[in-house]
Amino acid sequence: MTVPWRRREVFAFLGLGSNLGDSLGTLQAAVERLDDDPDTRVDAISGVYQTDPVGGPDQDDFCNLAARVATRRSPRRLLALCQDVEGALGRVRAVRWGPRTIDVDILLYSDRTVSRKDLQVPHPRLLERPFALIPLIEVAPGQRLPDGSSLTAALAALAPVEGVRAIGTQVHLPGRAGEQR
Ligand code: ATP
Ligand code: CA
Ligand code: CA
Repeated sequence: MTVPWRRREVFAFLGLGSNLGDSLGTLQAAVERLDDDPDTRVDAISGVYQTDPVGGPDQDDFCNLAARVATRRSPRRLLALCQDVEGALGRVRAVRWGPRTIDVDILLYSDRTVSRKDLQVPHPRLLERPFALIPLIEVAPGQRLPDGSSLTAALAALAPVEGVRAIGTQVHLPGRAGEQR
């Protein structure tokens, strides 16, 4: 019997955001759908942050969190999963940087750089976004960028940081509600 070849599991880091509807419920559902994928396991999630919207039209604050996933998906297939989850949870693309039920971005994929037309990793705006870096650092302590520089140094370069407020741990690892994260 031949054992089918399986891609090695790697850690990737996703940034999730929502500012339409029941944002906490949608973030919880997104984390569960990511974990339902047979090739992806949500390994850790950050607390939830309430963040001021950046760019785009006047709109409500966002709820943001970061997830560390162990995945056998390639970067492109992981993006496809993120987009499937967005679609399943009712994401509609209207205005650029406008309000959305859910946004799932790939922030980092292991220590790799991806430079494709439809996918750039690290996320091209990660280093200018405290709302992405702060939760990311929670689930990626010690993780470095592909160039070897540290996430904490990137965040320090943005000081003083405003508009990012920790609001708690209302979103849980799938199947582990109420347990310690
Ligand atoms: P931003 O990219 O500034 O966070 P956004 O998340 O609102 O804005 P979307 O409309 O969700 O933008 O995505 C636009 C396109 O960005 C996607 O169709 C996808 O092809 C591309 N993209 C490039 N790099 C990434 C990445 N690292 N993660 C997610 N999408 C990416
Ligand atoms: Ca985004
Ligand atoms: Ca996006």
